[in-house]
Amino acid sequence: MRPLIGTGLKMNLTSSEAAAYFDALRPLVAPLTSCELFVLPPFTSVWVARDRLRDSNVAWGAQDVHPQDAGAHTGDVSASMLADLGCTFVEVGHSERRRDHGESDQLVAQKVHQVLRHHMTPIMCVGEPSPGSSEAALDHVLGQARAGMSMVPEQDRARVVIAYEPVWAIGEGAVAADPKFIGRVHRGLKELGARVIYGGSVDHVTAGPILAQAAVEGLFVGRAALDPKGFAAIAQLTSL
Ligand code: PEP
Repeated sequence: MRPLIGTGLKMNLTSSEAAAYFDALRPLVAPLTSCELFVLPPFTSVWVARDRLRDSNVAWGAQDVHPQDAGAHTGDVSASMLADLGCTFVEVGHSERRRDHGESDQLVAQKVHQVLRHHMTPIMCVGEPSPGSSEAALDHVLGQARAGMSMVPEQDRARVVIAYEPVWAIGEGAVAADPKFIGRVHRGLKELGARVIYGGSVDHVTAGPILAQAAVEGLFVGRAALDPKGFAAIAQLTSL
């Protein structure tokens, strides 16, 4: 399977800025056949992604979803709304949502289930809060991942993407985890039968050694992909 290289744009880019981003990214990655690509803009720009990335090699999706089909949930967005806009990936349980919105493993499980029910791919984020041994990290994330996949039948496990994102390795001022450490955690997570990608301070320097780990099946990029050239540079490493 080709590596999966994606980005979540978090709460960045207006719709106009997102249009410019997609227009810049599209030709940069057009020649690439060595990886699968996806972009998760804010909800307000999902329709822009649909318009600007249609018939390209970049899939799009969203950063969250409500677990119910429809109804009295002010401000929320349903899976069918996302599927209708051509989304094929939906991020679930990012540590910032767990932190800012108190999302529990149980809610994450419901969202994963809902995304699969609507024939999209959940990107389910897990990560330990602070640095420690790879055994301790694996113990923590296996607990989160097992809980998050508790509503996924055995035969659907391969449809889930687990994004291993150590919380301490994410965001401004952080550095990516050591590639060998990542490799050990991924090997353990692989027992769940999902695809496992890594996120946390990935850039064009750290990406190569991380991708070289056998159990790393892709990358989930934050800051370094806010510039389309940065995202493309990381994706291009998969063709070397
Ligand atoms: C993230 O938060 O999912 C992420 C990967 O961020 P960054 O690359 O900026 O650490």
